[in-house]
Amino acid sequence: MTYVITQKCVGTCDSACVDVCPCDCILGPVALGDLRAVPARERGQRFPGLQLFIDPDECVDCGACAAECPADAIYRDDDVPAAYRDDIARNAAFFTR
Ligand code: SF4
Repeated sequence: MTYVITQKCVGTCDSACVDVCPCDCILGPVALGDLRAVPARERGQRFPGLQLFIDPDECVDCGACAAECPADAIYRDDDVPAAYRDDIARNAAFFTR
C-alpha cells in the first residue's frame, strides 16, 4: 500500500506535502528550494508539467500528505480515481530512473 500523487498536482505543485511526510519520500524533478523560490501562483507557468511523486517503497501509508494537499491530488493507491490510474505507475517509475 502506498499513497500516489496524481496529475492534479501539475500547475499547483504546492509542496506542503513534503513538510509533513515522516519519511522524506516525496520528491520531484526540481529541487525543493528552487521550486519554493517561485511564488505558488507562478509555478504552473515556470515549470510546465511539473509535479511531485511519492516513492512507493518508502511510503508508510500515514495519509498526512493527502490531508495537506490543496489540490486534492493525493490518494491511497486503491482509491485513485479511474482517470488517474496511470499515475500509480508514473510515481513508481520516477524512482527507478
Ligand atoms: Fe509520506 Fe505518509 Fe504521504 Fe506516504 S502517506 S508519502 S509516508 S506523508
